[in-house]
Amino acid sequence: MDLTDLDLKRFARQLSLPGFGRETQLKLKNSTALITRCGGLGGPIALYLAAAGIGKLIIAHAGTLTWDDMNRMILQPADAVGQPRIDGIVESIRRFSPAVEVEAVGEHLDNVSKARPLVARADVVCDATPNFQERYALSEAAVLEGKPMIEAAMNAMEGHLTVLHPPQTPCLRCLYPAPPPSWDVYGFPVLGAVSGSLGCLAAIEAIKVLTGFGRPLLGRMLIYDTEVNLYQQVELTRNPNCPVCGKL
Ligand SMILES: [Zn+2]
Repeated sequence: MDLTDLDLKRFARQLSLPGFGRETQLKLKNSTALITRCGGLGGPIALYLAAAGIGKLIIAHAGTLTWDDMNRMILQPADAVGQPRIDGIVESIRRFSPAVEVEAVGEHLDNVSKARPLVARADVVCDATPNFQERYALSEAAVLEGKPMIEAAMNAMEGHLTVLHPPQTPCLRCLYPAPPPSWDVYGFPVLGAVSGSLGCLAAIEAIKVLTGFGRPLLGRMLIYDTEVNLYQQVELTRNPNCPVCGKL
């Protein structure tokens, strides 16, 4: 697909970014991102990838919209409470940018066999899931398919972000050999603006990985605490004996 006159108008303010240009825009237009869970974190990832002009989004999200989703799920209209979450997500993205192709998957990718066929059709994987079962499945599918994965996680006022692409970087299992024992999938606190800020940063990393623009967070993790505005980066190392990526 080539750029249209409307593309040149719609994306004029980013085409003028130094080092961005038409070639970068065209790469985005011909790219597909898989986003797993499209709530407080994945919603802004999807919206800003659509805003940037990505060609296709594959979005996986299950369940029914509840009132306690509404402090962070900014793609959902209030009158959709009680309806399938995936419907509000697709509707919002289509209204915002009809040119973006959206493939909706109304389930969670909680094992490798579910995740892998979707990962295979994506150029980048964005992990915005709240639990380790799905994170591990997605990371393993990304390793098997050789796809880069944007790994974003938040809790309360904190955010963590990195780009995983073994063997250049660790995989998720290198970083977390086992889930933290105290992790409460359904009860951890979220301030919507914190998950939203992380979603924006994750979208930037996805754009960089897809286009070669900028310097992605490969082998480094951004860790921040918005309560005290502390931002730091730590270097990451692979586990050579990792059961998922050790043989790469
Ligand atoms: Zn690994």
